[in-house]
Amino acid sequence: MKKFMKSLVLFLAMVMSVVAFGKEKLYVGTNAEFPPFEYLEKGEVVGFDIDLIKAIGEKIGMEVVIKDMSFDGLIPALEANKVDIVIAGMTANEERKMAVNFSTPYYTANQVIILNEDNNDIKSFDDLKGKLVGVMLGFTGDVVVSEMKDVKSKKYNASYAAVMELQNKKIDAIVLDSETALNYVKNNKGIKILESKGQPEEYAIAISKKNTELLEKINAAIETLKKDGTYDALLKKYM
Ligand code: GLN
Repeated sequence: MKKFMKSLVLFLAMVMSVVAFGKEKLYVGTNAEFPPFEYLEKGEVVGFDIDLIKAIGEKIGMEVVIKDMSFDGLIPALEANKVDIVIAGMTANEERKMAVNFSTPYYTANQVIILNEDNNDIKSFDDLKGKLVGVMLGFTGDVVVSEMKDVKSKKYNASYAAVMELQNKKIDAIVLDSETALNYVKNNKGIKILESKGQPEEYAIAISKKNTELLEKINAAIETLKKDGTYDALLKKYM
């Protein structure tokens, strides 16, 4: 009997903790190699996107669980229901819109060129002709460079690897999203950004096409966070 009471108490304690702490979970896919939007700090995924999705989670009453994976695995993970949403500085482009829905955009960026400081012969995207250009596999920069004539590209899985190869003069340039490029230039010696603007791109949260209810909730939360100052505070913190 004593034993039974003991397990009953244990069981009740478990039930109570689920009731008390059991917020519905929101599984969020990201690729923590895109500072300042998402990156690793002491083994933890942090950044603008992470703070933003946590604030959204609070607004919609869900507990955010971050899943870090490769960038080109994010949309497949969404399609396979392994994550509920993706936030990864992901550009809402036409090709991806065929596979997933996107929230209202939350950031506008563009593609820029990173060069060694002593490189003075590349002054525009046109000057990349005949050069070897580093891009990140599956990023919009990869798409932009692949569409250019007479430009050779070397594809990387991680942008810091491309930056190292640029510094070692293994490649001539890197094409990357503006804010992340700025972040690398700030933290690495001997490289610069070419002030030549590529096409603007809008970052948005990706959600399965089947989950329109969640999409609406997230859009409403983004709107609230833009109005109540949370969004501006995050910009200030990270940009
Ligand atoms: N904005 C770029 C894209 O969508 C890069 C995003 C990223 O690396 N996280 O392809």
